[in-house]
Amino acid sequence: MSSPPPAANEPTQRVPFPAFPFVNTPGQTDIILRTSDGVDFYVQLAILSPVSPVFGTMFTLPQAEDSSQIYPVIDVQEASPALDRALRFFYPCTQLTADSLDELTEVIEILISKYDMQWLIPSVKKHLERYVTSDPITVYAYAYVHGWEDLGRAAAKETLKLPLRTPGENTPEVLRLIPADAYHKLLRYHYCCGVAARTTTADLGWISWPDSSTAEYRWFHCWRDSCAVYNSRGPIIVANETRAARQWFMDYFVGMGDILATTPAADIRDPAHPLLIRMIDRANECEVCRDRVSNHLRHFTALWVARIQTVIQEVEWKF
Ligand SMILES: [Zn+2]
Repeated sequence: MSSPPPAANEPTQRVPFPAFPFVNTPGQTDIILRTSDGVDFYVQLAILSPVSPVFGTMFTLPQAEDSSQIYPVIDVQEASPALDRALRFFYPCTQLTADSLDELTEVIEILISKYDMQWLIPSVKKHLERYVTSDPITVYAYAYVHGWEDLGRAAAKETLKLPLRTPGENTPEVLRLIPADAYHKLLRYHYCCGVAARTTTADLGWISWPDSSTAEYRWFHCWRDSCAVYNSRGPIIVANETRAARQWFMDYFVGMGDILATTPAADIRDPAHPLLIRMIDRANECEVCRDRVSNHLRHFTALWVARIQTVIQEVEWKF
């Protein structure tokens, strides 16, 4: 009878170290890496020497005497789990076992910063890219530390989905890795993108009028008196004509503009957003607006998202 699979929130059980292929294999093993917690990893000199100048140098130095071992022993600073993960990044017949961004960044520090394995950078960046969406600040910090501008740009763009300039309770530990001016540049980029995104709700020159009369945005020309008109900021000019914008729409449009100012890539079409829910409820109270609002909004918000992306693209970013 097979054992039940682990629950989703249970960590993957790791095998004791050393595990294949870092076990004693007569005829192939010729050196031992001894970890800080006293585990011996049996490895091949011919595999490690060419891939890292640091390994290459280490193997030419006099080794510690250990009469219990028939192979030379090299003490390394890493603990066995970290060394295992690091070796599996490049060693033949293995694959990376880092299950989290913390484990991956530890591997990066070992392989790139300590053992100077620059040839692994393209592969390392690909693995880091998997975390751009879930943890853009950490990816940004590591991209900055290593000067990986393309990855830094992708991470900076992902931070636009976060209210980065709203103070949280805790300062991310990873920010200790980068200088203040590096983070300030990120904040400035985020701010400029927020300003640009918000202008889409103030400068309405990007809004074109639909060609079909049935597609004309109902909130700009509803004819029912009981459907309240927005009067808070003077005449609304769209496609060269003054429009009687409806209050229910402008509350959503202007409200989303305020959110874009702090979260430039906020999802303005999020069906669960209170502003959107409230807008639909109020539009449905008007018998003229209600039959068209969904179709017209789908069309309008697609153009709006494209406009936001365009103005954000125009904001310069660099380390
Ligand atoms: Zn109406």
